[in-house]
Amino acid sequence: MIKPENQQNEPEIIETINLYERREKIYTRAFEGFYRNLRNYGGALLFLLYFGTVWFTWGDRQAILWDLGTRQFHIFSETFLPQDFILLSWMLIICAFGLFFITVLAGRVWCGYTCPQSVFTWVFMWVEKVTEGDRNKRMRLDKAPMSTEKFARKFAKHLLWLLISLAVGITFVGYFTPIRALIGDLLTIEASAWAVFWIGFFTLATYGNAGWLREQVCIYMCPYARFQSVMYDKDTLTVHYDATRGESRGPRKRNADPKELGIGDCIDCNLCVHVCPTGIDIRDGLQYECISCGACVDACNGIMDKMGYDRELITYTSESAIEGNKTHLFRPRLIGYFIALCLITGLFIVTLTQRTVLEFEALRDRQSLYSTNTAGQIENIYTLKLVNKSQQPQTLNISVSGLKGVIIRGDTRITLDPGSVASLPVRLTVPPEVLTGTNTTIEFHANSDSADGPATSAESRFLSPRTTP
Ligand code: SF4
Ligand code: SF4
Repeated sequence: MIKPENQQNEPEIIETINLYERREKIYTRAFEGFYRNLRNYGGALLFLLYFGTVWFTWGDRQAILWDLGTRQFHIFSETFLPQDFILLSWMLIICAFGLFFITVLAGRVWCGYTCPQSVFTWVFMWVEKVTEGDRNKRMRLDKAPMSTEKFARKFAKHLLWLLISLAVGITFVGYFTPIRALIGDLLTIEASAWAVFWIGFFTLATYGNAGWLREQVCIYMCPYARFQSVMYDKDTLTVHYDATRGESRGPRKRNADPKELGIGDCIDCNLCVHVCPTGIDIRDGLQYECISCGACVDACNGIMDKMGYDRELITYTSESAIEGNKTHLFRPRLIGYFIALCLITGLFIVTLTQRTVLEFEALRDRQSLYSTNTAGQIENIYTLKLVNKSQQPQTLNISVSGLKGVIIRGDTRITLDPGSVASLPVRLTVPPEVLTGTNTTIEFHANSDSADGPATSAESRFLSPRTTP
């Protein structure tokens, strides 16, 4: 390398940079406030849904059950089969657009309030506080040599973490295997190896992610964290520190007037840093580690109240507002996502309501166009595919229309178990004199035995030789 002339005699400085940075454990401080309450109530509702709905029954089975053995997904009165996979795709697309919409509107609030990783991390942090004490006590405990008290506190914390994780694992598997039977099998050590494996997997995943990895999942592992920033714009509501009002920061007596002292409203107490679950200082500006949890907002509002200053030195606001401009809530991108979300949700509802409990398809045999039997009648062969998506057995009678004198050869009555699929081979025969063309549209009908049972039809073609005039 050629050095500039004025640096020719300077010694070369070689610096070794370690690209591996050891994680600094984050000791969060307890706090109170509106956003904490919002998260607690929201979290309680989510827990109730997750741990509760698995115990609901509907008729003689679990209300929500993804039965992988029979490949049927039961949700209350409805049963979905692999043929309904399109509905699952619709649901995933709706979730994706919902997430895009909420991110453009309010940044990573999904991460801060509803993501299972955050929700369980907050619960695990609460367990930590209960077993090991507040922030300062935990820091002292970690530095102290092992003692009976330290061992007992750490043991209690890990035991509670593991018990919560186990409940998460059993509940999760309970959505795929009837939970009452699963718990009975676990208690009698008769559970299948797969059930035990998946319970173990989800127990360890919860324990590891919420207990040990915590903010590292959000910062390094979560793909959403990586791409969400491209969805932000100047009007997105995120957590901001109002530097114009807060700086220059510095300690002061409670009743001192900052204007007289020539300083800003930030008393530099660092509480906003101590409550942050990702360990960042929001006063350094918006950072990709911020999960918009609002903990620093609550903490700072508490301090502002104590000091007798206005609240919201740290608050949910937009970059535009921080720059002194108007925040445009209704902007084209947000409206676009909203319209797309409404359209897709509407299509999903239409598809769902038009879903029949009986699926019926008539497939013409592609091997031969037609044949002539010994009686001189024209014959076409079909395979009728029937799917019973209802939760009752269905006895169906098959008939055909569209051709005079047509006769079905083969079984015309079939009973389908709930959720079962059947293929019914049939032959149609027609006297040649009734045929007026070479390709006639016909319709198969499948009608239930009972008057209020399902009825459906499927269109097909009947092929025949050219008739001589
Ligand atoms: S909590 Fe508020 S006052 Fe305290 S350091 Fe943070 S911004 Fe400043
Ligand atoms: S900076 Fe504030 S909002 Fe962002 S993660 Fe930390 S505490 Fe939560």
